[in-house]
Amino acid sequence: MKIIMLGAPGAGKGTQAKMIAEKYEIPHVSTGDIFRANIKNGTQLGMEAKQYMDQGLLVPDELTVKILLDRVAKEDCKNGYVLDGFPRTIPQAEVLDKALSELGDKIDYAINVDVPDENIVRRMGGRRACLSCGATYHIEHVPPKTEGICDSCGQELVLRDDDKPETVQNRLNVYHEQTQPLIEFYSKKGVLQTVDGTMDMNDVFEAIVTALS
Ligand code: ADP
Ligand code: AMP
Repeated sequence: MKIIMLGAPGAGKGTQAKMIAEKYEIPHVSTGDIFRANIKNGTQLGMEAKQYMDQGLLVPDELTVKILLDRVAKEDCKNGYVLDGFPRTIPQAEVLDKALSELGDKIDYAINVDVPDENIVRRMGGRRACLSCGATYHIEHVPPKTEGICDSCGQELVLRDDDKPETVQNRLNVYHEQTQPLIEFYSKKGVLQTVDGTMDMNDVFEAIVTALS
């Protein structure tokens, strides 16, 4: 099963993608996580991506598309995957479509996690991320067992640079301009399923499982 998560930054794509990956035993592929791992390791890709990410802008398609196509070509993706944060532009979606159709394949579901902008701003300020293992928490909704420490790997949790309030508004603007048109793109393909992302995360997951069955 090949699934795409759509939705504004902070809508809960990553949270739900991890739950989907576990239930359906498919890899969770997040371009944001790949970029953050590269930043942490000081690679050339990481240094280039950081300039855009810190401003709340999209990393150019030339850098993004190749890393995604290389990732989904790996052996563990052969029975499917859940993409979180890709595609984010129509050209990215078209490249993915073409790469899949050359293999006689296609995206099965695009899940749109729908959350209004006012909720997003609140969520992003409370998000805490582990840059070591990619786990995500929320200081109120999904707190770690020990404040500031990742439950999974014991590393320190951080407020992502791009979750600071001044950057969140930029990211929302970029989302509305460049990513939201993908909702219509996948709707026309007949694979779009929209769920209400303002519910408790377990209820959102239940709605997604229903949509996938
Ligand atoms: P995205 O991957 O779309 O950017 P995340 O999954 O990282 O979003 O979620 C953003 C923040 O909101 C995180 O701090 C997460 O713990 C929290 N969160 C996710 N889903 C919900 C929900 N249904 N209700 C409340 N908070 C949520
Ligand atoms: P995310 O972790 O999905 O919120 O992504 C964090 C940041 O990484 C985004 O704000 C972008 O700057 C960059 N990014 C992640 N995925 C993409 C993508 N598909 N295209 C362009 N930029 C991306």
